[in-house]
Amino acid sequence: EVKHKSDIEIAQDANMLRIEEIAAQLNIEEEDWEPYGRYKAKLSLGLFEKLKTKQDGKVVLVTSINPTPAGEGKSTVTVGLGQALNRIGEKAIIALREPSLGPSMGLKGGAAGGGYSQVVPMEDINLHFTGDIHAITTANNALAAFIDNHIHRGNELNIDPRKIVWKRVLDMNDRALRRIVIGLGGPVQGVPREEGFDITVASEVMAIFCLAKNLDDLKKKLARMVVGYTYENKPVTVADLKVEGALTLLLKDAIRPNLVQTLENTPAIIHGGPFANIAHGCNSIIATKLACKLGDYIVTEAGFGADLGAEKFLNIKARYADLNPSAVVIVATARALKMHGGQGKSELSIEGLQALADGMSNLQKHIETIQEFGVPFVVAVNRFVSDHDSEIQYILKWCSERNIPVEISDVWLKGGEGGEDLAKTVLDIIENGTNKYQPLYTLDQPLEEKIITIAEKVYGASGVQFSQKALGQLKEFDMQGWSTLPVCMAKTQYSLSDDPKLLGRPEEFIITIRELKASIGAGFIVALTGDVMTMPGLPKSPAALNMDVTPDGKAVGLF
Ligand code: ADP
Repeated sequence: EVKHKSDIEIAQDANMLRIEEIAAQLNIEEEDWEPYGRYKAKLSLGLFEKLKTKQDGKVVLVTSINPTPAGEGKSTVTVGLGQALNRIGEKAIIALREPSLGPSMGLKGGAAGGGYSQVVPMEDINLHFTGDIHAITTANNALAAFIDNHIHRGNELNIDPRKIVWKRVLDMNDRALRRIVIGLGGPVQGVPREEGFDITVASEVMAIFCLAKNLDDLKKKLARMVVGYTYENKPVTVADLKVEGALTLLLKDAIRPNLVQTLENTPAIIHGGPFANIAHGCNSIIATKLACKLGDYIVTEAGFGADLGAEKFLNIKARYADLNPSAVVIVATARALKMHGGQGKSELSIEGLQALADGMSNLQKHIETIQEFGVPFVVAVNRFVSDHDSEIQYILKWCSERNIPVEISDVWLKGGEGGEDLAKTVLDIIENGTNKYQPLYTLDQPLEEKIITIAEKVYGASGVQFSQKALGQLKEFDMQGWSTLPVCMAKTQYSLSDDPKLLGRPEEFIITIRELKASIGAGFIVALTGDVMTMPGLPKSPAALNMDVTPDGKAVGLF
């Protein structure tokens, strides 16, 4: 058997261009980029203003079937497709999320693509990068400190310490911090209350960071965040605490998008990375909008499967950013489809045509969802070397029998060259397909209706059940005037339903809405189904066990 190099070995062998060459490729003047070392740069916010009148490039969204432990490879296909478009002569840019350290140290390892389709410098991108996540953590926790200080200093706003909804955050999976008590030790140590930590990417600051259009908009959104309620149940906002200026100041550099490159020197902008359950799961609007001015094609991705990431990209992000997505790529793998059809994780290298046939139902549902949104799409079969040819042929035939555009992606093994067919088909569906993109609900529909629409049209549920608590909140939020906001569904990524164990395409199921959460700064209402983790834990053998650094400072084991 051929031994393949690991992601990090490939990344460390990359022929990176100095970042000024990438900036020059994009015709960015020197005053509009600032180097962060040799291979990273921050772009100015003024650059967008300068290019404002330029026509926007076309946005291609990469999504996938429901993720399984078998791996799908959305980021890999996103990077590979960008490289492929460049190889066939188009001016393409990639827009990605910044990886969070929690999952990197825990389950996943790196999140910068894979094989010969990666963004580099991979080690930096996966570790501290340009410090954006640190800045977001700090802004979030500064606010927590201001809240507790306000209560300690006499609580002029009359905040009920039992109704604070703001949590501290950390960019690490640390289950021991999920529920804690703070302020113990007597009057000088503050006012005791229950508190908890979320992972940084679940912070509303991260969601706002990714939905803000500019610094001013960032400040306005931060000011609107609800941190808790008074004893009379009146919402208390950041504006009430008068700290939106300080929070914006902490984010002033982070908010500028980061420019890097792929293994084949295709420009990539990596900026922001909110969770795809409690938040909307896409890189920043600032990055995507800027990429639209800098390139003719923007390849971007949204977290988890099409039921979460793409749904939110198309219902929330595109609406707020006024984007008109031109095409969607739905990534599937034979391995993951077999798992959806019941084949066990340890048996994935065994040919399994029956399991594959059964698992196609999952892909089918996601295709129907993208059709509901009216955007032209293509299925990309991300090939693994261990896949059986009969399985790949089965998927191709299944699609062609249904007139579904499909291409094999070999970008993991071959880089951009392995994605040229996919790139050509993407261009073809943009040119010749009909695009009737429309969000699935209008903002004036009641929250309840929005939730039911997503559950029925995107998940295929037969109905929605609201808990007593959620029903009460629907009324309360309506009274606050929040019901014209879009809905951000927090649901397990593994299943179309709210039960992670139901793979494939579950039928006749009900979605239970346990609780709602108002993310007024970000501008959406989160609907929580099942038990959604906002502070993940580490697995028994975390990926960190394989990580090391050589005496000369080279990273080892970041996948
Ligand atoms: P996602 O974006 O869906 O989470 P990634 O693109 O980050 O997935 O890939 C997850 C892991 O799977 C990476 O380590 C990557 O190298 C690996 N991977 C992706 N595609 C392939 C493939 N075709 N063959 C082998 N490994 C792959």
